[in-house]
Amino acid sequence: MKILIVEDEPKTGDYLQQGLGEAGFVVDLARDGLDGLHMALNGEYDLIVLDVMLPSLDGWGVLRTVRRSGRETPVLFLTARDQVEDRVRGLELGADDYLVKPFAFSELLARVRTLLRRGKAKEPEVFRVGDLELDLLRRRVTRAGIKIDLTAKEFSLLELLLRRQGEVLPRSLIASQVWDMNFDSDTNVIEVAVRRLRAKVDEPFEPKLIRTVRGMGYVLEVPEAQ
Ligand code: CA
Repeated sequence: MKILIVEDEPKTGDYLQQGLGEAGFVVDLARDGLDGLHMALNGEYDLIVLDVMLPSLDGWGVLRTVRRSGRETPVLFLTARDQVEDRVRGLELGADDYLVKPFAFSELLARVRTLLRRGKAKEPEVFRVGDLELDLLRRRVTRAGIKIDLTAKEFSLLELLLRRQGEVLPRSLIASQVWDMNFDSDTNVIEVAVRRLRAKVDEPFEPKLIRTVRGMGYVLEVPEAQ
């Protein structure tokens, strides 16, 4: 899940980026309205956290242009001014929710999860391949009925493999979707993560579901019977 934060206060922006990153989201941060608008229109985000008072273009302007472009990306407004007309204006312009500053991070995280859930209402909440199950809402993974504990990144990686099951996913795609990294980054972070994920979801079980396609990437599927 990818989130765009548009926030000009350096401390708040850094804090939100770090907190949401630790919660398992891929997070981009824009520090003014025009940058935020550009990123919102050119990136694929599941949610935008949008401050109202911004340099160069305020949150109203960003939201209006995003909606006019036909994008339905859920927007959570951050407003310092707890005034009824602000909330009404935001909701009329197509914001999905708002939060008044100062707020507790736990509150923000709860709102973010609710909005993401609502946005994905038409999607299945549970993904399955063979006896492997991933429950998006409960953030729970089981195989053969046995609960498997995954880190936030391992969960995101497995979610991606399950959403695109049967498809060979290049490392570059995994890097951009799960880590927000570029392909030419020479770390072996993806191999390490796949190895850890396999140790948890594949090694104790049969059949093995995650397959390496040499020179191409990884695929998750039930292997064809020999
Ligand atoms: Ca601001």
